[in-house]
Amino acid sequence: MKMSYPEKFQGIAVTDNNNWLNPKKISFEPKKFLPNDIDIKIAACGVCGSDTHTAASRWGACPKNQIVGHEIIGHIVKLGPNCDKSWKIGQRVGVGAQSGSCLNCDRCETQNEPYCPHTILTYTSKYDDGYISQGGYASHARVHEHFVIPIPDELPTNFAAPLLCGGVTVFSPLLRHGCGPGKKVGIIGIGGIGHMGIMIAKAMGAEVYAFSRGENKRSDAMKLGADHYFATGTEGWDKDLFNTLDLVVICASSLTDINLDQYINIMKIGGMIQSISIPNFTEKLVLSPFSLVGVNIGNSHIGSPHEIKLLLDLMATNGIKPWIETIQINETGVNEAWTRMEKGDVKYRFVLTDFDSEFK
Ligand SMILES: [Zn+2]
Ligand SMILES: [Zn+2]
Repeated sequence: MKMSYPEKFQGIAVTDNNNWLNPKKISFEPKKFLPNDIDIKIAACGVCGSDTHTAASRWGACPKNQIVGHEIIGHIVKLGPNCDKSWKIGQRVGVGAQSGSCLNCDRCETQNEPYCPHTILTYTSKYDDGYISQGGYASHARVHEHFVIPIPDELPTNFAAPLLCGGVTVFSPLLRHGCGPGKKVGIIGIGGIGHMGIMIAKAMGAEVYAFSRGENKRSDAMKLGADHYFATGTEGWDKDLFNTLDLVVICASSLTDINLDQYINIMKIGGMIQSISIPNFTEKLVLSPFSLVGVNIGNSHIGSPHEIKLLLDLMATNGIKPWIETIQINETGVNEAWTRMEKGDVKYRFVLTDFDSEFK
């Protein structure tokens, strides 16, 4: 019998952009194996909002036969000759949204790899030889060792997956802007990444304020660790919050729905509003300069390998796990996950599993 590994990998790909919700199983050439590369046999992959945005061509045309997925957990099956000797065959590892960068610019050398101008995202990015990176809805991943993350034993595979992109994307601005004891921290948008934002901000020691449009997420937000909940669809929700928050992370999928002027008003002077949303690239922010006086605002982008490691340790130490639903990976399973994601029907993160039965 001819082995499919390592010559060809298999994955669930968008083969027809007009029918992106129905991806198909394909086999594909992996990228060229370089001396610092690690091959990972994938065991689970979280389903991120970026996956559907990419598959639906919302950030530009989806490349032909694109495989998405960047919350990858698996086991090492092959190590390049130059890889660090501490890696072990069979070791459980993860890969997030980034798989490459120049590794020697100022940003890379200060653990700001996500902001390197030569970033290779785990899918849809072009390597030097023209190869387009392929994601984790696949049998294997081939990634430079710098972007491979050891998974602590305490974290079960399916629960670790969503931390690799979604979790660290909210953790990074929390960490960089001082979330911790004595700080009042807001999370706007509870679905998807926001649910992890609440539990992470709480684990970091902050007093957590959760904001969502309606009342329907109140009990979940409190179970996740929020200290306060505000339904922002209710008139006057902000009347007692003037000058309250040190830091807010906006986890909503679109910023046009958010009344930023209202949030600016509830910030302390010097407070920080960070967004992590990457909406349609045509979207523009509308801000009133007058209300922005004294408050900072910015947009954050995924998290560095170092930040992923810190987050995994935080989750392992505190014994906390994302809320997930698992779905078996195959054409039908991906279709179901994406269809339900489009309707916002997930509590709160899908994780694709059973890779062994799909990719024999
Ligand atoms: Zn760089
Ligand atoms: Zn993601």
